[in-house]
Amino acid sequence: MDKLQKYVKLIVNVGVNVQLGQKLLINCPVDLAYFGRLAMQEAYDAGAADVLILWNDEISGRIHYLSAPDEAFGKEVEWIKARVKHLVDEGYCLLNVYATDPEILKGVDPVRIQKQQKVGQMMSKPLSDQVTASAIQWNLASVPTPSWARKVFPNAANDEEAIGLMWDAIYAACRVDDNSDPVENWTKHVNYLQEKANKLMELNFKSLHFTNSLGTDLVTELPEGHIWMACGEKAKTGNNYIANIPTEEVFTAPHREGVNGIVYSTKPLVYMGDVIDEFWVKFEKGKVVDYGAKKNPHLLKSLLELHKNADYLGEVALVPYNSPISQSGILWYNTLYDENASCHLAFGRGYSYTLGGTDGKTEDEMEAMGLNQSLTHEDFMVGSKCLSIVGTTNDGKEVSVFVNGDWAI
Ligand code: ZN
Ligand code: ZN
Repeated sequence: MDKLQKYVKLIVNVGVNVQLGQKLLINCPVDLAYFGRLAMQEAYDAGAADVLILWNDEISGRIHYLSAPDEAFGKEVEWIKARVKHLVDEGYCLLNVYATDPEILKGVDPVRIQKQQKVGQMMSKPLSDQVTASAIQWNLASVPTPSWARKVFPNAANDEEAIGLMWDAIYAACRVDDNSDPVENWTKHVNYLQEKANKLMELNFKSLHFTNSLGTDLVTELPEGHIWMACGEKAKTGNNYIANIPTEEVFTAPHREGVNGIVYSTKPLVYMGDVIDEFWVKFEKGKVVDYGAKKNPHLLKSLLELHKNADYLGEVALVPYNSPISQSGILWYNTLYDENASCHLAFGRGYSYTLGGTDGKTEDEMEAMGLNQSLTHEDFMVGSKCLSIVGTTNDGKEVSVFVNGDWAI
């Protein structure tokens, strides 16, 4: 079996873990039709009852943004809402093939993007609720496109060479090689991450203190009943799945009102088809009170203001500096990879499964429990080789969790 076939198998059978009789929706770029078809075949081989592919195309999306009249933006579309409802009612599992040109929307009027993203997120909320509540099995997988590969490997002689390099990097990061079974590799890796999550659960920290030489000095309180998650979640369907392949993170939610101090980004953040870079954010009682960025501060402003509670945190994730993705030294311009190369935080929504007792609770009730509620969830990277994290337990004991960017527990 070649590496591409192994990768598709890993995504469909371990990532989504499609079971006999389940239905699967694949969101796939038209330029990667071959990948969508391979995934469809694999899902039917696993016994899927129906596989639906929704093709998308960001180049026609760009034409639309640049050329459609103003009134084309920000409107709810009934048939899209009906489609989302159908997918939710029928219990479709979800595979998102994520391959985006990090600068596809450069130069587009940000007001148009904001309007469109806001309405898009509102229309797909019933499905994204399923995802954030782990109600369905889902996976987000990346596949190289020429624009992405050239951005990551600008010195490649041509598109073909860049894509080849990109695939090699993806296979290495996803533990896919010629000589071993990636499913076995993943079983081992999941167990390792689960051990770290279990230790953090035992320690049951009241807060974490992040410091590094860039100037980061941030304390995040953790709500009572917080749950540390590693990959290998169990969906409400009763089946395990792995939402992100690759994944190196162990994560939970901070208390939405318990974040204080300043944090510096350590990697560029791809947002709205452009890149925010070298930024810092200052928090008081959970809320962003000041910020700055060397590149595209206006995008950071829009990220923080677009949705309610986007200026509070919903995730704190620990990733060792020596993970294979981090060690590749590649700047991926792709959140799925970059977030697994670095400790990160997320603006916006916290995942309900990272806090105990949230089952059946309304959004207001979850917010009162300390879990931030927002339409957006945007990771940004804060890990570095010199990052130290010290946890404080409920009885005031201090424990080193990360020393020099790596696990200390
Ligand atoms: Zn994360
Ligand atoms: Zn996240």
